[in-house]
Formats: sequence, C-alpha cells, structure tokens
Amino acid sequence: MSDTVAPPIPDLSIIVPVFNESAGLPALFARLGAVLDRLEMRSEIICIDDGSRDATWDALLAARAADARIRLVRLSRNFGKDIALTAGLRRAGGRAIVMMDADLQHPPELIPEFVARWREGLDMVYAVRTSRDGDSFLRRWSSRAFYRVFRHLSDIRMPPGAGDFRLVDRRVADVLRDMPERARFMKGLYAWVGFRHGGVPFDPPDRQTGKTSFSPLRLFRFAVDALASFSTVPLVASGYIGLFMAVPSLVLAIFFIVRTLFYGVDVPGYASVIVAVLLLGSIQLLTLGLFGAYLGRVFEEVKGRPLFVESDTAGFPDDRKQTPRDA
Ligand code: UDP
Ligand code: MG
Repeated sequence: MSDTVAPPIPDLSIIVPVFNESAGLPALFARLGAVLDRLEMRSEIICIDDGSRDATWDALLAARAADARIRLVRLSRNFGKDIALTAGLRRAGGRAIVMMDADLQHPPELIPEFVARWREGLDMVYAVRTSRDGDSFLRRWSSRAFYRVFRHLSDIRMPPGAGDFRLVDRRVADVLRDMPERARFMKGLYAWVGFRHGGVPFDPPDRQTGKTSFSPLRLFRFAVDALASFSTVPLVASGYIGLFMAVPSLVLAIFFIVRTLFYGVDVPGYASVIVAVLLLGSIQLLTLGLFGAYLGRVFEEVKGRPLFVESDTAGFPDDRKQTPRDA
C-alpha cells in the first residue's frame, strides 16, 4: 500500500513532468502501468508535480496508493518542464530512464521498443514524429522557423522531428543531471551530450484531456532562451553590422570632406543626416539590448541558486513531508 517502498535499484525509471493534469492521470497510469507489467523489468514511475494549481498532487497521491511503483516529487512552484525533467533525473535510479509527457501525447506503448533498441546498444532512443497534423498552422510554421534559425546559429545538430519523448542510458542521464546551467533547453542538451542515438518513428496523438501549457508567447520566450543558451552569434552580429556600416561611412565621410573643400558648404542634407542618425541609433540600442539579454543570463547563472526546490516527496527513502502543525 501507500508506504511500501519500491525495489531500491530499478532497471527502468519513467520520469513524467506533470503540470495541471489531474483529469488525465488515471488514463495515463492505466496505460503506462499495463505496458510496464508486460515489460518484466523492475520499474519506477517518477512524477514531478511542477507546481500544479489544480488537484494534481492529490490525484498523484491516490495513484501511488494503488501502485507502489509510483514515486512522487512536488516542486515548490512552477519551474517549467525542462527543470521538472531535471528534478526527475536527480531522483531516477534506473539503468535506463524514459522521459515522457503526462498528456498521453507520448504513447507509453512505444516504451518496449525504446528498451529493445537500448538493449541493442543505443544510449539514447527518441521518438521521431512523422507528422505534426495535430498542431496548429502557426505552431508548425514557427517551429520550423525556429529549427532553421537554430541550425544556422549553433553547432548543435538536433535530429529533425525528435521530441522530448525518449529513453536515455544511465551514463547519459548522469551527464544531463549534472549540467549546472539554469537555461535548460533539453532538446539542445540531448544533442550536446552526444553518445550513440537513434529514433523510433511515431505519429503523435492529440492531447487527451486539459490543454497545452505552452502559449505562443511562452513558446517564443522558450525559443529565445534556447537560442541564447546555444549560440553567441547574436553577440558578435553587432560587430559585423558595425564593420559593414563603417566602410561605406568612411567613404562617404571622405567624399563630403573633399566636396566641402572644393565646393564650399551647402545646407540641404537634413534628410540623409536624420536617416543616418536614426538608423545607427536604433542599431546601437538593439545591440545594447542584446548585450543586456546575454548579461542577464550570465547573472542568472552566476547567482548559482538551486535549479528547483522540492516541497514534498513520496516513495523515496528520504521523503520530505509537511510536519503536522498544532493549532
Ligand atoms: N509541463 C510541466 N511544466 C510546465 C508545463 C508543462 O511539467 O510548466 C508538463 C505537462 O504536464 C506535460 C508536458 O510538460 O506533461 C508537456 O506539456 P504540454 O502538453 O502542455 O506541451 P505540448 O505538448 O503542447 O508541447
Ligand atoms: Mg502535450
């Protein structure tokens, strides 16, 4: 029952970040549980409640009471999916670790195939989406644009179509877990670590219940963060713009000096001056802003705060619980 401790060293850990998913959890555990029953590996399901504001935590506790493989971590507030995954990696004990979404867009039935490929020797196995039909046009388009820009600005090569649904070997999980940075664009980090990897094709189904937590604005910020943490090209770009502007400016300056020397002063020219001033001024502000954005990120990293804070856990030897409070 609720306080039976799952076997100390599982073969397989499943990490599920959960944010406001109470409605979908019973279906998730039913399907995931059935898959794990058939797998014949000692497994644990680590759910990270990423500061949900609905009944998710209670639903998770109820699920754990019915299935001792389920272990729970509740973060003290919403930290975002990538950090929630990291919180799961810190707790996962398996020799292989699967990360999947809670909304059944990552069908658990794919896990046995991941495991088979892992046994064949792959260190990282990911699901590759064969279509994005479920996504809106805007999301498909912006995602394509993002990956194209990312490819040009960074040296990291992300396999196209690969998402967050994947299995990683213990060795890969250890590297991911120990990365100290706060800006955790997991898809980029997966590509950064290397190792032998391969994909399994799948056609992502629609979300079963609830709605996506990634609004267009949140996705945009996510994209900017991802680019900034994997590329310094924008920082140097202002230098190139400066260089590009400097040569014609110099030529123009010489031309004006020579012309003034030979033909005297002529007043007209307000338009060209104002255009040059505004253009250069705005480029300068833009690059200052860019510097600020990177400096802000350096500041965030340098503060060295913990990545996340666990407020409660259930199913681990060193559980954190709220102590009873007398009135
Ligand atoms: N999620 C999370 N923290 C967040 C947002 C989402 O842990 O701040 C979880 C969510 O519960 C789900 C997964 O991350 O299990 C993917 O979220 P979602 O389905 O909203 O994203 P999408 O499928 O639209 O990319
Ligand atoms: Mg989803």
